[in-house]
Amino acid sequence: DPLILWFRQDLRLSDQAAVAAAAAQGPVIPVYVLDDAAPRQWKMGGASRWWLHHSLVSLDNSLKAKGSRLILRRGDSADVLSALARETGATRIHALHHYEPWWRNVEKAVGKRLELCLHDGGLLLPPGAVRTGTGGPYRIYTPFARALMEHMPPTPPYPTPHAIGAPDHWPASDRLEDWHLLPTQPDWAKGFSSDWTPGEAGARHNVANFIDEVGDYPEARNLPSIEGTSRLSPHLHFGELSPAYVWHRVASSGQDATIFHKELIWRDYAYLQACEFPAYGSANARAAFDALPWRDLRTAGADFAAWKTGRTGYPIVDAGMRQLWGTGWMHNRVRMIAASFLIKHLLIDWRHGARWFWDTLVDADYANNSVNWQWVAGSGVDANLFTRIMAPLSQSEKFDAAGYIREWVPELANLPDALIHDPDAHDARPRAYPAKIVGHREGRERALAAYRHIKG
Ligand code: FAD
Repeated sequence: DPLILWFRQDLRLSDQAAVAAAAAQGPVIPVYVLDDAAPRQWKMGGASRWWLHHSLVSLDNSLKAKGSRLILRRGDSADVLSALARETGATRIHALHHYEPWWRNVEKAVGKRLELCLHDGGLLLPPGAVRTGTGGPYRIYTPFARALMEHMPPTPPYPTPHAIGAPDHWPASDRLEDWHLLPTQPDWAKGFSSDWTPGEAGARHNVANFIDEVGDYPEARNLPSIEGTSRLSPHLHFGELSPAYVWHRVASSGQDATIFHKELIWRDYAYLQACEFPAYGSANARAAFDALPWRDLRTAGADFAAWKTGRTGYPIVDAGMRQLWGTGWMHNRVRMIAASFLIKHLLIDWRHGARWFWDTLVDADYANNSVNWQWVAGSGVDANLFTRIMAPLSQSEKFDAAGYIREWVPELANLPDALIHDPDAHDARPRAYPAKIVGHREGRERALAAYRHIKG
């Protein structure tokens, strides 16, 4: 009997335990199921769908090179897989574990109807593999990272199977075009393809490019004007690479990779928190924050729109928001500044910001997005940083963002470094660029006043 190989956010053939297990056991029917109902409000956003389209094309090509192909089906995952099993006589399904709350529910539903073999490999270690002295899950990053580090390096990656056996008859497949994953009018993703090559080959190419830069990463990663980070996040989100592969490749650079490895551990940390607290994307992990008097979007709507479109009058924030819209990605340092500005200076609920990121990021990831937004807000399970209000203008100078601003805010491109971070203050603002929608001090004081409601 053939086996079903069920792909989700693990769109690769190499170092993929479900692929290896299925290929070793018999003819394989690889399938991707587009299930928009299970995630409910977390159904994939627009930028992610653009990525998914191209990544599925790439996976199908890789499978074809192994004598196989990718079957596409759409609908409720458990129904679709059951129907496919009936049609093909398959009884067993191989897949990787996924930890988004909806995937865990879907796995339970599938497991009730079919023999579902779940494998590890999406994280450095499965959530819960390291525990505190009292046996509980870690809540704070630093001790978690220390404990996880004791189990590193991760199991070395194993190679792609040479061939993947085909069934006697291929079941029917949807046509990818009929899923309409790509934007049509207007094509807001037209700039994406110059920055990104979704799929396993593009992912490996980015790793190879990054190897020479590992030694500079500890400094360079904070500077948005240069390409100092790996740009692996969408590839990791869609599982086009395993984190174990990235770990080992980067370690083999001969340079000190500790700081980079710790970023990969942040990803494991975020997944652990999302497992422990499945509502992380929609509820404050620190319940006291439920009392915070956020501004209502009915009155703050224009400010929210200015933030989304990169017209707040804060060049570093605007550059970030425009990079996000133009490329589906934003530099980490700028994500922190832009998120902090929305939450504190504009006093708009982090959930609105997280939702916008969800729709516009090619690396939109339930655990990473939710945990990072709540980390900036201070409502997360770890430190409460609400009162540590970032000053966007000094951050912009400190991290030397002039080149970045020139790239993304062309209205300011002619300003010299000394004026570009805060053109308003120097009377240097061109007419085409908006004035600040809120003063730094005014925003800061309003945020601190609101915060007093939740203390005590
Ligand atoms: P590198 O610096 O090269 O890091 C390598 C990898 O480590 C990343 O690809 C990522 O998988 C992981 N990583 C790095 N930083 C973090 C972090 N803070 N938390 C968790 N994992 C991390 N990352 C996402 O992947 N998806 C999101 O939806 C997302 N939303 C974010 C929202 C906010 C408000 C903030 C502040 C951060 C968010 N991040 C998110 C984390 C981080 O900004 C990105 O992972 C990073 O910018 C990706 O670029 P890179 O691959 O070049 O990172």
